[in-house]
Amino acid sequence: MKEKLEEIRQRIRVCAKCSLHESRKKPVPGEGNPKAKIMFVGQGPGRNEDETGRPFVGAAGVFLDRMLKAAGLKRRDLWLTNVTRCLPLEGRRPRATEIKTCAPFLLDEIQALHPEIVCPLGSMALSLLLRKPTRIQPFRGTAIPTENYFLFPLLHPAAAIRNPALEEKVLEDFRNLRKFLDSDPILKPPPGQKSLF
Ligand code: SF4
Repeated sequence: MKEKLEEIRQRIRVCAKCSLHESRKKPVPGEGNPKAKIMFVGQGPGRNEDETGRPFVGAAGVFLDRMLKAAGLKRRDLWLTNVTRCLPLEGRRPRATEIKTCAPFLLDEIQALHPEIVCPLGSMALSLLLRKPTRIQPFRGTAIPTENYFLFPLLHPAAAIRNPALEEKVLEDFRNLRKFLDSDPILKPPPGQKSLF
């Protein structure tokens, strides 16, 4: 599993399959615990991620860490990744063709990691994983069973950085994730056994 994830990382590092490779400084592969049961999927790198080649660093990373703490989760137990891996010029949104070209990296990561829960952060990640255009709002903070894992959509933490009025909603989503982890009989450990989450 670790080898497969490393192989995906290496492919992303040299990828030039779409025009975004021209605007990036560093591509941003997923990173985290190769045994993670929970995966978070953001939209794509921001400026800090582009500089460092790491996902969820800078202000968005600090904010995410606060939200994870509210859900009783630690970054070291998770896998953090994105739909696209290279920063577009002037921070525009990735185009549909760029998303489609980059998507196999995410699908390969999911296949390699076998997560129990995949948390799309925002509409772009949710739409890709449901394979149809989908707004995050009706689904945020609730679990959607799929064949291989639960989808648990959340508002993207960056939304609250752009609009502080959304902070409470983002927090609510992460608290709902905690409730789901504590309540679901499949995910809940038997009495006396340590929680995976
Ligand atoms: S965004 Fe994805 S497909 Fe496009 S160049 Fe970067 S890694 Fe390759």
